[in-house]
Amino acid sequence: MKYYLFGNWKCNPTNAQEAKKLFSDTAKGVKRSEKVETAVFPPFCYLAEFAGKKKEVAIGAQNCCFKESGAFTGEVSPKQIADLECKYVLIGHSERRKLFFETDGFVNEKTKLALSFDLIPVVCVGETDEDRTAGRAVEVVKNQLAAGLKDVDVKKVFAAYEPVWAIGTGKACGIAEAREMARVIREVLGPDTPILYGGSANAKNGAVYLKEAGYNGLLVGGASLKADEFAKMFQEIEGLE
Ligand code: PEP
Repeated sequence: MKYYLFGNWKCNPTNAQEAKKLFSDTAKGVKRSEKVETAVFPPFCYLAEFAGKKKEVAIGAQNCCFKESGAFTGEVSPKQIADLECKYVLIGHSERRKLFFETDGFVNEKTKLALSFDLIPVVCVGETDEDRTAGRAVEVVKNQLAAGLKDVDVKKVFAAYEPVWAIGTGKACGIAEAREMARVIREVLGPDTPILYGGSANAKNGAVYLKEAGYNGLLVGGASLKADEFAKMFQEIEGLE
């Protein structure tokens, strides 16, 4: 069984010196492994510095434009990201959906375009607190998958289940709920799409999602900014049978 440990740095760190240190400390804390693939997703401004530099750590972008090039001020296209030798791109992270009004339609266009440049899209889905309280969690996630991955070869993408209420809150999803959502996502996408869990994962709880809830890996925000914590997560996952 192959596992994945992905770190989403979001809009951090705020200077190149700290970013370089975090990257080199992260690379030191993990190793190239047949069992666990590690990737980090730094801000765009550091991609060229890190992509292809360390064999222990693959690089991904946190977002991409829905067009290849042209009059799209402030955007970075998947072709430009692929040209930097990045491997992955996050698409439809809940912060993009909420703060930058990204719709499932955008997610779908971006996913298709990223695939056309041989990037591996990591498509993020997840319900809000309100959705879960109203009993709509499964329906919301199924709808996001259906629309975001319409006409997409799902064997070529990763899915990340990130309940919005668990992101950055310290309130990680319960194992039973996470297991149920992994089951639902696998039912929709089939057995060949790796599924990651994300939402307040850390060295204490992370490996449990893989061992007990059927996930193939983790998408980690806050804890990926601490190289020692991230290294512990790597070790925990490497130690799984
Ligand atoms: C994320 O932003 O993808 C994430 C999972 O964040 P955190 O681990 O901080 O909850």
